[in-house]
Amino acid sequence: MKTRQALRFALDPTFAQRRDLGRHAGASRYAYNWGLERQRAALAAGATTVRLPSAMSLHKEWNRWKKGRDGIPWWPEVSKCTFQEAFHDLEWGMRAFWESRAGRREGPRVRFPRFKKKGRSRDSFRLTGAIHLHGRAVTLPRIGTVRVWEDAARWVERIQVGSVRVTSATVSREADRWFVSLAVEVERAVPRRPVAGDTIGVDLGLLALATLSDGTVIEGPKALRHGLRQLRRLSRAHSRKQRGSHNRARAARRLARHHAKVAHLRRDHLHKLTTRLAKTHGRIVVEDLNVKGMLGNRRLARALADAGFSEFRRQLAYKCRWYGSQLMVADRWFPSSKTCSSCGAVKAELPLRERTYRCESCGLVLDRDLNAAINLAGWAYPAVTASAAETRTACGADCKTGPRPAGGREAGTGTAPERRHSMAAVDGGLTNVH
Ligand SMILES: [Zn+2]
Repeated sequence: MKTRQALRFALDPTFAQRRDLGRHAGASRYAYNWGLERQRAALAAGATTVRLPSAMSLHKEWNRWKKGRDGIPWWPEVSKCTFQEAFHDLEWGMRAFWESRAGRREGPRVRFPRFKKKGRSRDSFRLTGAIHLHGRAVTLPRIGTVRVWEDAARWVERIQVGSVRVTSATVSREADRWFVSLAVEVERAVPRRPVAGDTIGVDLGLLALATLSDGTVIEGPKALRHGLRQLRRLSRAHSRKQRGSHNRARAARRLARHHAKVAHLRRDHLHKLTTRLAKTHGRIVVEDLNVKGMLGNRRLARALADAGFSEFRRQLAYKCRWYGSQLMVADRWFPSSKTCSSCGAVKAELPLRERTYRCESCGLVLDRDLNAAINLAGWAYPAVTASAAETRTACGADCKTGPRPAGGREAGTGTAPERRHSMAAVDGGLTNVH
């Protein structure tokens, strides 16, 4: 099974390399804008979508132009892939715009590509060709060998064996740090079948990041909470400085640096959690949080965005596919919090502030989140019995399970035969991984 993913490393460039990286990013932006200008000119002259210059023809024209009288004398200093890839990006952006306009593209409307501005757009460029990863360094065309902060040895090994192939490298700047993201094709073993009974329910929360049905509680990283408080402080400091002043520019740099740090912390933490879940459990059940709906609530929105619920689901979906486990999403109306995990009684009301579940029917007293997590695990396997497990078809991460007979639960538990399992959308694009 071939999958695509991205390996991201923080670079530790020398002073001269820093300058080279900046130059490449500038060149990429320049070529993109140059191409966009021509696209716009072609449109103004009445070109239709079909006849708009392609990345290839733009690159050809660029090669003639760059050496000419109005050309750019600095072109030999920059790897030619930088230009080529910038034109590819432009072509992609144009196509996305047209397809979106023609209604052939899902999702929000795509805007017409805009010019990139220094300091406003992200500094980045992409290289193809001879890219080599070493233990603590990466060799890029034209730029040479740049040190990386992490040890990449385990990937080097896999590249040598041939199970991983590097296809391109995207270099980008975040605040004052440079990163390289290597796009790789990975040959993975066909995932194992999920083990029946090896099911875990995950209740995503605001206080604890996640509570698992086996009783494990995963706290949101403290560093992240501190980081967010500091972020607010820096953001206020920034907006108080006078526009155009040196102080404001300095405050902006500080804010950007800190922002990048917080984002990394969060992503790191989520990656650890989702990898652990997908690797150790054959079946993972999460609730279908209506994230969009909940984001409308501003106080909740902050905490929600912090916990990165949708990112959690996205990561879990593709990792489940890698490791051969199954991700199940309980339907939105399943009352995982209000149901007693012991007797199945359902409460009519359970305010968010009540952190402990107390059952009036059977007297169960349990942490609210743990109760919900157990219910989620039970949703996939209502009353797991040997015979019930046998009749259920084993199924990989990318198939849908249809309606199945109700399990051995008592009436009134919310278990209904028409309840269906839905699989989370699996993101097929490039994904960052640790
Ligand atoms: Zn009960």
